[in-house]
Amino acid sequence: MDDLYRELILDHYRNPRKKGLLSPADIDYEEDNPVCGDHIHLTIQLDENNVVRDVGWEGEGCAISQASASMLYETLIGKSLDEIRKISKDDILEMLGIELGPVRLKCALLSLKVLKAGAYGLTAWPGEEED
Ligand code: ZN
Repeated sequence: MDDLYRELILDHYRNPRKKGLLSPADIDYEEDNPVCGDHIHLTIQLDENNVVRDVGWEGEGCAISQASASMLYETLIGKSLDEIRKISKDDILEMLGIELGPVRLKCALLSLKVLKAGAYGLTAWPGEEED
């Protein structure tokens, strides 16, 4: 039953989308998952309305971590920072579509962690400036 998803994950792992860092970049962030040795470096270019114009990334590690990055990051183009903020752990798990144990979960969620840390670090979200 998981075969379709496994195929998709392997396809993204073997042929990652949007690979290659952007320069200059408005968002530039990288992080490791020491448990597995995964690494993801994400760069994002925004337009004047804080909408993602382009995205590029580099990484190494297991199939789950790299496929998760490839699948997630290619969907970012055209999204606003506000929309990025709403992407949840569940969205990533739904996107991957396979059952993951606790170790693999860290691999799967590294892409989201890098994205959120990078995006949150860039700018205050609307309504949060007053805090
Ligand atoms: Zn991993």
